[in-house]
Amino acid sequence: MKTQQIVLASRPVGTPTQDNFRFENIELPDLQKGEVLLEGLYYSVDPYMRGRMNDAKSYVAPFEIDQPMSGTAIEKVVMSKSDDLKPGDIVSGSLPWCVQTVAPAKGLVKIYSSILPVTDHLDVLGMTGLTAYFGLMEIGKPKAGETVVVSDAAGAVGLVVGQIAKIQGCRVVGIAGSDEKIEVLKDKYGFDDAINYKTVADLKTAISKSCPKGVDIYFDNVGGEISDAVISNINFHARIPLCGQISLYNSTETPLGPRLQPMLLTRSVLMQGFIVSNFQSQFPEAIRYLAKWLKDGELKFEQTIVHGFDQLPTALLGLFKGTNIGKMIVAA
Ligand code: NDP
Repeated sequence: MKTQQIVLASRPVGTPTQDNFRFENIELPDLQKGEVLLEGLYYSVDPYMRGRMNDAKSYVAPFEIDQPMSGTAIEKVVMSKSDDLKPGDIVSGSLPWCVQTVAPAKGLVKIYSSILPVTDHLDVLGMTGLTAYFGLMEIGKPKAGETVVVSDAAGAVGLVVGQIAKIQGCRVVGIAGSDEKIEVLKDKYGFDDAINYKTVADLKTAISKSCPKGVDIYFDNVGGEISDAVISNINFHARIPLCGQISLYNSTETPLGPRLQPMLLTRSVLMQGFIVSNFQSQFPEAIRYLAKWLKDGELKFEQTIVHGFDQLPTALLGLFKGTNIGKMIVAA
């Protein structure tokens, strides 16, 4: 049986382009015992995939040249030689960028929920929600009345962080890159204030005006100059969950910035990097909270759904152009 896959054709230098990907027609192997034939429904595209396009040591192995890109996907079982899954079942797992694929049933998670849209499992009830929850609750440790600033606030993780911080009784200020995103943050998601980092004259001053009592928690999704401006407003005993550094993922050199460590030192600030999987043993507890807040209407979310398997590279590149609000998902 023939299908199509998308492979990494070359490693990007700087910002990736379409030339770094290649579409291929391939023959699928016959199904063996314990395996299923899957058809892709929804594919998650995420900033960490940019890191995997480099040949660099990280918490996850690099993509190989001429091998398919991969990521979390929701797929339908078409044929099964597994006792655990039957045709029609919907599963999620880490799967290659293929229209159809043969995979071991072991390692796939069956999605039972018929109430929530299945795409929630790539979003607020998946890596996105868990990242927001653990970064904020376990490292940020918010207290009512504190001021929380989140960068990439209108992105998948940022939207959830801001809302959880509001649930905890904090003042929440978001930073994002378009007027449309600023409006969404304030009007739809209840952020107390939001700043467009692309149009503001002086970000450091704008943050000090939006945060008259200083910044107690900075949820850092972007790094670079945005983070320099926020950290310049940081309070004594503040916490900085270091979640992502998307502004630096396409850098070809290590960028130099102001050396802010003396400020972290003298104000007794905690800055801690984390990977969501650090908290794996606590996932069920977090899912319970996230699901409850969703059910109670305290937590909303937003998805940018791009249609067509062939749009996977475009959707991934779009993350670096700011084309998404909330979670970027490709519907096959
Ligand atoms: P998003 O979907 O929000 O990422 C895309 C957004 O990033 C864009 O819409 C854009 O928004 C912003 N962006 C892109 N380039 C830049 C830039 N140069 N400067 C500032 N902002 C930029 O991603 P997620 O919400 O999924 O992830 C947010 C961050 O969290 C990422 O850095 C990601 O790597 C990290 N992450 C970390 C995890 C962990 O375990 N530690 C797990 C999941 C994510 P705008 O228009 O506002 O510029």
